[in-house]
Amino acid sequence: MRQIDHFIQGGSGGLGSGRTHKVWNPSTGEVQAEVALGDAALLARAVENAKKVQPEWAMTNPQRRARVMFRFKQLLEDNMQELAELLSSEHGKVIDDAKGDVQRGLEVIEFACGIPHAQKGEFTGGAGPGIDVYSMRQPLGIGAGITPFNFPAMIPMWMFGMAIAAGNAFILKPSERDPSVPVRLAELFLEAGAPEGLLQVVHGDKEMVDAILDHPDIAAVSFVGSSDIAQYIYARGAANGKRVQAFGGAKNHGVVMPDADLDQVVNDLAGAAFGSAGERCMALPVVVPVGEDTAERLREKLIPAIHALRVGVSTDPETHYGPVVTPEHKARIESWIDTAEKEGAEVVIDGRGFSLQGHENGFFVGPTLLDRVTPDMESYKEEIFGPVLQIVRATEFEHALRLPSEHQYGNGVAIFTRNGHAAREFAARVNVGMVGVNVPIPVPVSYHSFGGWKRSGFGDIDQYGMEGLRFWTKSKKITQRWPDGGGDGSNAFVIPTMG
Ligand code: NAD
Repeated sequence: MRQIDHFIQGGSGGLGSGRTHKVWNPSTGEVQAEVALGDAALLARAVENAKKVQPEWAMTNPQRRARVMFRFKQLLEDNMQELAELLSSEHGKVIDDAKGDVQRGLEVIEFACGIPHAQKGEFTGGAGPGIDVYSMRQPLGIGAGITPFNFPAMIPMWMFGMAIAAGNAFILKPSERDPSVPVRLAELFLEAGAPEGLLQVVHGDKEMVDAILDHPDIAAVSFVGSSDIAQYIYARGAANGKRVQAFGGAKNHGVVMPDADLDQVVNDLAGAAFGSAGERCMALPVVVPVGEDTAERLREKLIPAIHALRVGVSTDPETHYGPVVTPEHKARIESWIDTAEKEGAEVVIDGRGFSLQGHENGFFVGPTLLDRVTPDMESYKEEIFGPVLQIVRATEFEHALRLPSEHQYGNGVAIFTRNGHAAREFAARVNVGMVGVNVPIPVPVSYHSFGGWKRSGFGDIDQYGMEGLRFWTKSKKITQRWPDGGGDGSNAFVIPTMG
């Protein structure tokens, strides 16, 4: 059995506490590897390594730091196919989606290549007589990231790309369900010229997460995962005096106005609701047609489009989406469909019990369409995180605006319309962090930033872009005065007082 080890100080970390976790191949249903689960002692070793290397890295001029980022970006491109195959084999997403996962992380690395410009600081000459004021952004020291299974390349790079470029050392605790790609990223980062110990990977579960949250030398923690755990991370990290950002689950709505181009909407929904088996925090699992006529026309077009979706193994280029990540997750999704049915939703297309010929042990869930879903249903309130699309019928625009605004999650939302006024009104008033106008998955590009609202995000600072730089640095403000010593070397001056 293949063993996946920690990546400590540029190499294998030893198997820690001896506990391990199974890593599946979701397409075949076989256990393909075991990952080591670390403990507080292993984390302490990683922190000591990071402490040795971080001060010098912080003093390295930003152009040199950027050069490591440039080389890393090149290595990501050179190794794209290998990374995508490895990612797909543990996660189950198809190869093109796996490449997209690496590519979206790579784009954050591209942004981080601009660190000399981004971290320049501000300066006011002559803020008072002979007085200059300047501010600079200094790294925090050691940062940590705790990441989910669904984007094992992109989300780690959202975090360590910005943290390390800004002068921090970084310890990554990836998901134990698909841990190989994060280790491969750390190996490539070393190959790009980063000093050993700057980027380390420690595997683990709650035990390792708690060790990170409690370690006094870790200054900041970034988390992405489900909401209850995000809230726990936020509270425990903050209680220990750390800076914390913690992003949680989602239930993104797509509002379809009567004037929308329904063929385009159906095409967008096929990708946004079912792509990557719905295991995306920016998936669109709820569609809200406005008016009964829109609902009927949309449903009529959706049914054949969903039947045409091809579910298959993740390496098959004809596959629209692959298996879900674990047998437990498959069971959970199917149980949500049971719940929805019991709650009175109409199961229009039923993906339960789906079996792929030749891969009967794979963790496949067929595409599912539920109609007449209402806001009081548990299956609407909670995140399903599978290939399940729910139709919630709205009577008019204000009703459609209220649904995502009042939902516990506030990650993403989309409106489909040809009416600029309706779109503008919706974007301005909806109580959700990221909005798409005729864009089903509005993930902001790397030079903006990413973050949801309500139970989708705890903390005030977003991921990546300038917000990422802000999160991983603290600002220092310097007020300086250099009085003329008058040539006698006395340099006598009076420190100014407030007022
Ligand atoms: P998860 O919450 O189960 O795991 C996330 C991380 O937390 C993993 O590293 C895991 O090891 C750790 N963890 C698990 N249980 C823990 C516990 N009890 N205590 C401490 N740490 C624990 O999430 P997941 O299933 O890997 O990922 C899917 C979830 O992530 C979905 O809810 C999805 O919406 C969310 N997500 C959110 C975003 C976003 O940006 N808002 C992005 C991607 C995924």
